[in-house]
Amino acid sequence: MQNDGNGSRLPFSVSAELEIAMKSETEAIIINSMNLGDADKLVTFLSTERGIQKGIAKNARKSFRRFGAGLESFTVCRLLVHGWEHQELLRIESADIMVQHPAICADLKRAAAGSVMLELVKELVPSGEGNPETFYLLSYLLQLLNAGEDPLVLLRIFEIKLLSLLGYQPKLDHCLSCGKSPNAEALFLGMKGGVLCRNCMVSSGGQHILVSQGTVGFYYQTLRMELGKLSRLKPSASIITELGQVFSAHLFHILGKQLRSVEFLRSVYPF
Ligand SMILES: [Zn+2]
Repeated sequence: MQNDGNGSRLPFSVSAELEIAMKSETEAIIINSMNLGDADKLVTFLSTERGIQKGIAKNARKSFRRFGAGLESFTVCRLLVHGWEHQELLRIESADIMVQHPAICADLKRAAAGSVMLELVKELVPSGEGNPETFYLLSYLLQLLNAGEDPLVLLRIFEIKLLSLLGYQPKLDHCLSCGKSPNAEALFLGMKGGVLCRNCMVSSGGQHILVSQGTVGFYYQTLRMELGKLSRLKPSASIITELGQVFSAHLFHILGKQLRSVEFLRSVYPF
């Protein structure tokens, strides 16, 4: 990690002409920003063109004109950045706010569910690859969250859609052992990302969760549904709880750790 807190130089020593040529605008959703030194901020954001990116906003805590509140989590903005083709750390010149979500931060449950969405994106979306579908998924779900839709239902929908877009989706419709479609409650195996039907459950081991037919139905209905219709979904509390257990086990296996924001979620939604 680079550190410019004490005036050490960032690698921006190319000529002024070249720097201008390297400037570009990108739409971004701010994941988080941390104070750096006396005046700067280190910002992590999701861009439409290059996935997860990091940049330094020089003097961000002193220049309201260039940044305003544009570097706060959940904000959708247009960033003016410059940097090199394969450079990890960009320089952020300015931020123009496109959409703010004030109601998310004003409510603990919305803020907690939204924080898990942001952390999932930060942990799972690759850097350097364009992924506009993920950008629009997050942008749209944050809109619904801000508008007052159920935070926990939105989080489960987001997990279903995001893992599918990134190729990590758990398979709940065929038994891992016999290949048949489970026509009753099935057992989800976090280590395998799939289920065992009732006939094959006896041979299972390790962490597992029972998954009802209703949960499987909701999962595949959500997978097929286009974004604009997602707010019509009204799953029961038990479906949301079961899916929460499925994703918790599945994500732990993928990431090798628990998300930090899940502790915040659990403090406002005791399971
Ligand atoms: Zn089976």
